[in-house]
Amino acid sequence: MNESVVKFHKRFVEISSDCQKFCFMSRAKEQQEDARNRLHELYNEAHILKLDVISQKDENAANALLSLELIIQALQGELNMWLALKEDDASAAWDYLVDAQRDAINALKVHPIGGHLDGYIQHLNILEITLFPGQMFASPGMIIGEATCSICGEEFGECDHLKGKAYMGEMCIRNINHVASVEEVSIVENPANKHCRITSFTEKGVTRDILTWRVIKKNTAKIETSEQIVAD
Ligand SMILES: [Zn+2]
Repeated sequence: MNESVVKFHKRFVEISSDCQKFCFMSRAKEQQEDARNRLHELYNEAHILKLDVISQKDENAANALLSLELIIQALQGELNMWLALKEDDASAAWDYLVDAQRDAINALKVHPIGGHLDGYIQHLNILEITLFPGQMFASPGMIIGEATCSICGEEFGECDHLKGKAYMGEMCIRNINHVASVEEVSIVENPANKHCRITSFTEKGVTRDILTWRVIKKNTAKIETSEQIVAD
């Protein structure tokens, strides 16, 4: 492994372990904000180093740094979740947790340096079921008009790049540029995208937020969607 990456990895382990100490509800808000700022700086360092190894065409090092970037993002997401809960913003907290889960899973996929993350992913999954009530998810069935590979820009499926695999520090995703039509929306228990969820329900004329149970001034249930639909 590239020497500068090995050196950075040592700092990464120190700082990320230290910041994980603040991933608890009881920790002081300002300490959590401080940890989030330290992770932001660490991410920037990882990114600058990644650009450097890319210029040296060191793909293994670039993919290792991508994995570390994703782990840093996952930790930032978890801290943001705790902070959002303290701000009484349950919807944002949910989104931060789902992003952290996605980033941790991707970090595990893109390079063996993230191979120890099973326990952390399990921790995030436990947070999902202990901090939030069970959710109903929506899965859109759609006809895709145009989708391209994020690595080379070719029509998706026509090149050799594989979705979820890393290439020179970048993970291949399918960019959906145009949806020809949405055929149906199904309610599912295990969706591809946990951002796409039913956020409110109406009973006897009263509409409530599913996460907070607060009455909201709407008279129809809503399905919240996100950019994940167009970039999976
Ligand atoms: Zn491609």
